[in-house]
Amino acid sequence: MLELNRLSAGYDSGNIVHDIDLRVGEGEIVALVGANGAGKSTLVKAISGIIPVRSGGLQFEEERIDRETTRARVLRGLVQVPEGRQIFAGLTVRENLRLGAHGRAKEITPPQLAEKIVQIGELFPILLQRLDQPAANLSGGQQQMLAIGRGLMADPRILILDEPSLGLSPILVAEIFQLIAGLRQKGLGILLSEQNARLSLAIANRGYVIENGKIVLGGTGAELLNNPEVAARYLGVGKAVGDTQPESNFASRLKRLLDRTE
Ligand code: ATP
Repeated sequence: MLELNRLSAGYDSGNIVHDIDLRVGEGEIVALVGANGAGKSTLVKAISGIIPVRSGGLQFEEERIDRETTRARVLRGLVQVPEGRQIFAGLTVRENLRLGAHGRAKEITPPQLAEKIVQIGELFPILLQRLDQPAANLSGGQQQMLAIGRGLMADPRILILDEPSLGLSPILVAEIFQLIAGLRQKGLGILLSEQNARLSLAIANRGYVIENGKIVLGGTGAELLNNPEVAARYLGVGKAVGDTQPESNFASRLKRLLDRTE
């Protein structure tokens, strides 16, 4: 569905990501893992049109989209949930969700909009309970659910998640990742850009490792998890990046997570 061929992109200071080959198909989760500053956010910004593609190809459902605006890409179904959530704290949960469907405002009737919010609430019941509360009142994990829910309101075919684990406790990260794994069953393709290599590869069908703006490894989630190089560089000594819990706790949570998502 989404295909990058030798894509390069960056800023005025020069290219940051170079010759990236990557694809995301229907109903699959593809993890993009790499250290802080490796170029993950730059790559997802180029995919969603926030920064221009400097060279190479970007195709969505067999059509070139690299010259299209972000809005046009969203209307095709290529939707990004930004790093840091970027929800509107002063607006209610319902208002934030409505904003997700803003691009289709002319096509959607108020009852259809209400129905979409109910569908998001089926995925994230806590949001349904808090629809009329300011988003500022939500916990970090709930705000991440809201950010994903707002993305889903745009009817994505491909959802790009940039660092959904950012700032969340390990237990909340596990919960969010379980929810993300469940989205695949809806036929969505998901590109999951993450520093938490362990959990993202655990739920991913396939993954890519990015270092200094280049893809250095690719494979199934399981292949990459079991790759000694990946283990040494990204999984730490028995710990996920950012995980502060004892290994035994983390391992048992991960096992429970995998048991539930397989
Ligand atoms: P992080 O998890 O910290 O966001 P990342 O893998 O997403 O890491 P990027 O944010 O893409 O990495 O950053 C890659 C490189 O691009 C870094 O060297 C960063 O300093 C540089 N960079 C990021 N944003 C800009 C910008 N707006 N202008 C110039 N350089 C930038």
